[in-house]
Amino acid sequence: MTVDDFRQVTLDLEAFYNKTLNPTQKQLWFDELKNYTVEKYKKALHKICTTSQYMPALSIVLEEIRKVHEDVVLREKVDCRACKGTGYILYHKLVNGIDYEYVCQCNCQNGIGLDYDGTKVADKEHRSPYYLAKAVDVFMKEPSFTPQESAGQVQM
Ligand SMILES: [Zn+2]
Repeated sequence: MTVDDFRQVTLDLEAFYNKTLNPTQKQLWFDELKNYTVEKYKKALHKICTTSQYMPALSIVLEEIRKVHEDVVLREKVDCRACKGTGYILYHKLVNGIDYEYVCQCNCQNGIGLDYDGTKVADKEHRSPYYLAKAVDVFMKEPSFTPQESAGQVQM
């Protein structure tokens, strides 16, 4: 992450706990955290903010960010032609003569954890009719759908 990313996210953290780090602490935090992406830093802080009522020490942040990091690395490994490693497969479907592009969740390991079903969101305000279909359901039930590559290349 860049120093600007770090500053911005750390400001949010300070605001959340109504505490500030002094410049020496900030420099140390940045030195220890700069090799991680800002997304991982945000995820780690999100976890901390939702589970702890106290401003975290650097050691706690590092512990959380390593967990996030390992999680992501574990999931990035599978070589899959269907989703090209993203976990998502794009496909087309004609609705009333209009060609719509849809996305579904690949059955390979890359798709694990991508599940999304807006109809089952506990919080009413965030509920939606959208959900991420699983590739096996899409291509088994609707053989007329065509993924962007030929169907024969989709590995189930
Ligand atoms: Zn895949």
